[in-house]
Amino acid sequence: MKKPFSTKVSFSKKPSFYQSKIKFGLLALTLFTSGCAYTNKHHTHWSYKGDHGPKYWGSMNSDYTACEKGVNQSPIDLADLIEAELPPLGLAYKLGGNEVINNGHTVQVNYLSGSNLSVRGQIFELKQFHFHAPSENHVNGQAYPLEAHLVHADKDGNLAVVAVLFEEGEENPTIKSIWESMPEKAGEKNKLQPTISADDILPSHQDYYRYNGSLTTPPCTEGVTWLVMKQPLSVSKQQIKQFESLLEHPNNRPVQPINARPVLK
Ligand SMILES: [Zn+2]
Repeated sequence: MKKPFSTKVSFSKKPSFYQSKIKFGLLALTLFTSGCAYTNKHHTHWSYKGDHGPKYWGSMNSDYTACEKGVNQSPIDLADLIEAELPPLGLAYKLGGNEVINNGHTVQVNYLSGSNLSVRGQIFELKQFHFHAPSENHVNGQAYPLEAHLVHADKDGNLAVVAVLFEEGEENPTIKSIWESMPEKAGEKNKLQPTISADDILPSHQDYYRYNGSLTTPPCTEGVTWLVMKQPLSVSKQQIKQFESLLEHPNNRPVQPINARPVLK
């Protein structure tokens, strides 16, 4: 597995803090760059139903305890929103989606380096985006048929996810080109020709909700900045069906308790 970003950090001052950041970064890399949770026998097999489903993630591996014990877990139902002056997202995406992977849990588009998001002065690089059907996050109690997660990491391994919700309607041309390259079998990948831009799966209005959450898959690591776009995009019924029949199962973790977290709008 190729390291997509540097983990050069000085350990001289606060070793445990930085080491935990690095561990987090490496866990995230494992999960986000290769899909090896499915294919690598050293990882615990987890799934979305039955004995290996979300209810049991926290007890199946000591690295997954946050799935059960965490108090800032994702996804959530974004409700009781707090009015805030959220600054515009600093999105500077280039063409870069060049590979589509079916890892058995999702369909993921890997991204070339050089596309950035800036939030509160922090720069995150886009690593990949992938899909969940139905949506993982809900808004005011409502689920959507599809959700995209654009996963970004900063140089220390901190993560920020931009979530885009899709509602049923017109066919989506970007989804069309991704779905055309979706590998049918788990563990396979295909080249995306031509390369696509993540800008093409963002809504035109980029107002968003913000909350602090976690990875929605094991190890459910917390400290993830969630930026959920308010405006949904459209996807056709046929496109939703295509994704569902490829994965053969829903791939959404149920919503988690909000606990003491503010959700800003
Ligand atoms: Zn996701």
